Amino acid sequence: MLIARTIKDLNTARASLGAALGFVPTMGALHEGHLALIEAAKANGARVAASIFVNPTQFGPSEDFTRYPRTEAADLEKLAAAGCHLVWLPDVATMYPPEGATTITLSGPATRWEGAIRPGHFAGVATVVAKLFGQVRPARAYFGEKDFQQVQVITRMVADLCLPVKIVAIPTIREPDGLALSSRNRFLSQQDRALAPILYANLRTAAASIAAGKDVTKTLEDACNNLTASNLSPDYFNLVDATSLEPITNLTAGARILAAAKLGPIRLLDNIAVS
Ligand code: AMP
Repeated sequence: MLIARTIKDLNTARASLGAALGFVPTMGALHEGHLALIEAAKANGARVAASIFVNPTQFGPSEDFTRYPRTEAADLEKLAAAGCHLVWLPDVATMYPPEGATTITLSGPATRWEGAIRPGHFAGVATVVAKLFGQVRPARAYFGEKDFQQVQVITRMVADLCLPVKIVAIPTIREPDGLALSSRNRFLSQQDRALAPILYANLRTAAASIAAGKDVTKTLEDACNNLTASNLSPDYFNLVDATSLEPITNLTAGARILAAAKLGPIRLLDNIAVS
């Protein structure tokens, strides 16, 4: 597995990998969810590159940038074992040189939900992903549906900026009890870890109710009340159009429920398709 820490090394490594490169951008602290993206990229038959970069610009001032888990040695072992061909490990100065003057501005699917609760988050994500695409030059890039809004934001950005990369969304990998894998789950106390699957349990119940024709507003309210009764504080729990991410009150093809809830010091993020 090739490892590049400078643009020069990245360019040399990239030149050896052929045109049809698959790419998996990450912030490290890798788990089976990340590895599912590598697997999907490999299954496409091309060589696979991953990046590990904890991107400071997508964290708000009161968020956990400094405390975000950094486990580089273990991550590299996992990527090598998964058959990844290249790992790109830029530092902050490489990604954000002092003369840098360009940030991507977003509207549409970036406006609500995480975009409203974490101002500037998606501008940070979109800008770093655009830079990574320019550096790695993949033909396909793989993102997890765990961060469903992020997939829609990146898909919109790629279309709007005519970037020559195909975005591929991969289903969420979960613990046996339904909790979506996340690098931050390690920070859940034992008690909160036991409560955490309640978010996905309520997503499943609500999706089944809405699919069965129950009232959307009442179903979503019931789910929020259930979460609150279990000590989770929902930030949102809404039925949305799968592309625009605008809230809807009648079921349409591909509709999705997006949810986020605080549990102690951790925010849980999840979603489900309604069909
Ligand atoms: P992160 O390192 O958290 O920025 O995530 C890197 C990529 O892995 C993103 O595309 C995430 O959506 C994806 N990802 C994170 N958790 C999961 C999961 N449980 N299942 C599938 N993909 C995931």
